[in-house]
This record gives sequence, structure tokens and C-alpha cells, in this order.
Amino acid sequence: MSRYILGVESTAHTFSVSIVSSEGKILSNAKSVYKPPEGSGIHPFEASLSHLASAAPVLSEATGASGVGMRDISAVAYAKGPGLGPCLRVGAVVARTVASSLGVPLVPVNHAVGHIELGCMLTGVRDPVVLLVSGGHTMIIAYAGGRWRILGESLDLTLGQLLDQFGRHHGLASPCGRAIEEAAAGSSSYLRLPYSVKGNDVSFSGLLTASKKLLDAGKSFSDVSYSIQETAFAMVTEVTERALAFTGKREVIIVGGVAANRRLSRMMSTMSARHSARLAAAPLEYSGDCGAQIAWTGWLAYKSGVSVPVAESEVTQSWRLDSVDIAWRN
Ligand code: AMP
Ligand code: MG
Repeated sequence: MSRYILGVESTAHTFSVSIVSSEGKILSNAKSVYKPPEGSGIHPFEASLSHLASAAPVLSEATGASGVGMRDISAVAYAKGPGLGPCLRVGAVVARTVASSLGVPLVPVNHAVGHIELGCMLTGVRDPVVLLVSGGHTMIIAYAGGRWRILGESLDLTLGQLLDQFGRHHGLASPCGRAIEEAAAGSSSYLRLPYSVKGNDVSFSGLLTASKKLLDAGKSFSDVSYSIQETAFAMVTEVTERALAFTGKREVIIVGGVAANRRLSRMMSTMSARHSARLAAAPLEYSGDCGAQIAWTGWLAYKSGVSVPVAESEVTQSWRLDSVDIAWRN
């Protein structure tokens, strides 16, 4: 018989609630996304107020659309971290309230693990090298010995922050990734930019400064967008390739909001083919932050025995994914 789990995501700009079945069917995935004013980034407190206002309508949309009665929910999962404190707290309060009123277990989920496990479930990938590229993360990851291990990461900005800060410098509102992708598609003039790979880590801060300077010097947004994409995506593709060669895995998956970018997918696809590895990307609707990543990973955790008493549940702004024991993988 199917079991149902409700998941709440609220780590950053997105407040989302999803109901997923034990077979991995996503029955609903309602969301509301906080949009900061043009030219500025996420203000954690403002985002948390937006989440507070969205909580009741998003919850009722998710439960209504799922066709599942509240009494059939077996557990409630929430994103415990990493993320912005005020935003995390809104999701935790909603999840605690629902779990208490239904009298079902509460399951804490690591948001980054959520991106990976949902991506694997939706694409059928089993044991991949993961490129996690989002507003909050830039990491190359693979599973070994009971945990997802970090084989490379950004030493400063995430790839999402690089794109968003560059776009905001041009006057766009965050998130800017899609607008940069569209502008880049109109150019093929590469302007030289710093390419910074250190060991198996990447650094984007010099690239951001140099790209802003090119805009300030009058270069076109289209040419600089093309050049920043070519440079940053080549950097993450290089470190993913090294991780693939090192681990000998046969699958690669891109997860996180930047996975939506077609140029990144093409570069990663060429690289994966060279190693006879299968490349998968989370479908667009589920590559960015969403309740489904929390609900599905919550189900995996819950069926492995993970839950927390409501009175002891907490949020953790910095919670590295390589500190999470993964009981559901062998
Ligand atoms: P997430 O934190 O997983 O929700 O991802 C949000 C990030 O994905 C933001 O930094 C966006 O700018 C970025 N993003 C969304 N769509 C695209 C795209 N088509 N190309 C590049 N980045 C994107
Ligand atoms: Mg995310």
C-alpha cells in the first residue's frame, strides 16, 4: 500500500510544499518564490516574511492538488539546513505544526542531499558523480562509505551567486541565470576572463570582478554573458571530469537551479561521453528548490528510521552534506 509524506522547503527564496508517495510519485509541488527588488539580492528577513505570507496558501494548494487526505500522511519532512536562518525557521514551524496536529513523525532533511536524491529518483541514476550547482551550492559529490563525499567545491561564490551578482550589476533582478543564458546565446565573441581552478576546487570571485569591469568598460552584456558562461562552466566541467576519472563511476547528474542551463548541459554531455558515462539532469521543474526534494528524501530517511521529536527539532544554517549519514544507500 502507498504511503504519503509531506515535505516543506524554505531554505532561501522558495517556500514550497509537496506530497510524494512511497513509490516516488510526486502528487503535488506547490511553491511561492520571493523576488528581491531589481539590483539587490535576497534579504533573509524580507524573504522570511514572504514565506510567512505564502505558508497557508501553499500548504492548502499542495494538499488540495495531491488528492491525498491529511489523515493519510505518514510523516512530515522539513529542510533543516543549510540555508538562511529566518527562512529555515518558517518552514520548520510549519512542519512542526502539521506533524503535531496529525500526530505523525517529523523528519529533518539536508537540503543539498534533497537535490541529489530527488535528481537520482527522477532520472533513474543510481551511483553518480553529482554536479550540484545552485544559489547555495557549487559542489562535485559522489557517494562512498555511508556518506555523500565532496570531491570539489567553490572556495568563494557559488555558481548561482556568480551569475546573479553579475546580472544584478547589469540591473537585472535575481535570479538572473536564465536572462544571462539568453543574452549569451546571442554572442560567440569570447572575452578573456580569469579561469581559476585550484586543486579540484574552483574560485569565482576574480571572474566576477573581471566580468563587472568588462561591463563597466562598455562591453556588451551579450558578449560578457557568453564569456562568463564559457569560463565558469568550463571550470566546473573540468573538476567534474577529474572526479569522474578518479572514482571510475559511470553516471553523472547535474542538480540545482543552474542545471536548467543548456550550455552547461552540452559541455557536461561532451565530457561525460568522453568517459562513456551517462549524463542526466534533473527535469527543469524539479532542478531548483522545491518541496519534492524534501518530501522524497524525507521518505528515504523516514523508512531508514530517521525522525526527531518536535520539541528537539531545530534548524542549522550551516550543515555540510558530508556530515549526514545516509542510511538508505548501502
Ligand atoms: P536554486 O538555488 O537551486 O533554486 O537555484 C537558483 C539559481 O539557479 C539562481 O542562481 C539562478 O540564477 C540559477 N538559474 C536558474 N535558471 C538558470 C539558467 N537557465 N542558467 C543558469 N542559471 C540558472
Ligand atoms: Mg537549492
